[in-house]
Amino acid sequence: MKKLFSLAFLIISFVISAGYAEDSLRCPGDRTHQILLTFDDGPHVTRTPQVLNVLREHDVRALFFVSGSSALKSSHDKVRVILERMKREGHLIGYHAFEHWPHGSMMSHEANYIYRYNSGVVKNEDEMPKVSDTYNYKRISNDYILRNLFRGLNETFLNEYVGPFFRLPYGDGADNSAIKESIEQRGFRSILWDMDSLDYMSQQYTFSERVVKVQQSLCRNGGGIILMHDIQPHTPKELREWIRLMRDAGHEIVGPEKVRYFVK
Ligand SMILES: [Zn+2]
Repeated sequence: MKKLFSLAFLIISFVISAGYAEDSLRCPGDRTHQILLTFDDGPHVTRTPQVLNVLREHDVRALFFVSGSSALKSSHDKVRVILERMKREGHLIGYHAFEHWPHGSMMSHEANYIYRYNSGVVKNEDEMPKVSDTYNYKRISNDYILRNLFRGLNETFLNEYVGPFFRLPYGDGADNSAIKESIEQRGFRSILWDMDSLDYMSQQYTFSERVVKVQQSLCRNGGGIILMHDIQPHTPKELREWIRLMRDAGHEIVGPEKVRYFVK
């Protein structure tokens, strides 16, 4: 009998330490809200299909913000298959700029950012390797930064799929008037988020800690848009758990056509 107790104790502590036993997204007074799932930075050739599998399994539709450079770095055929599938399964696709730059900060510190043609941005000249081929580098003008917002969209495969939704990387630059104007002029609607799953910080925070943070912003904001990333290794597995917790708490996961209701 004693053995049985210690076995039960072991199982219970294992379940608790695995993090899922006490997690809850319930709001005070059992108030329930609407939630829209969004995924940034993809498409990723293996993880995005895994995310799509979980969404299909649970009959959930979402909004994906694809990154131009991720899409173009991967093989076009594989990306096209993923984008086709998103469309077929009722998801919407928005754009997440070409390079994953902090556009707002770059615009306000124009002189300090230098673009290295092959591998992105270095913040200042001290970071530049001392090499003779400095012609590989040039200062970035604000115009060049603005052009990055929609660079890649002329590619036919993106033109066919991307809807009028735009998300700035890091949400950076949402208050910058030139950036805002540029997004509006292209007929896009800027979309940020109300809750952050922090799936890109799984080294710093356990799943349970992240659930607490999401629960707080969810209840405070009365639902809204949650930020996730389909390029993160744990996201497909955690997504199953997020959906379960949302539904267990009585919240409704709504489709991407509701996105306009959430934009403040
Ligand atoms: Zn991003």
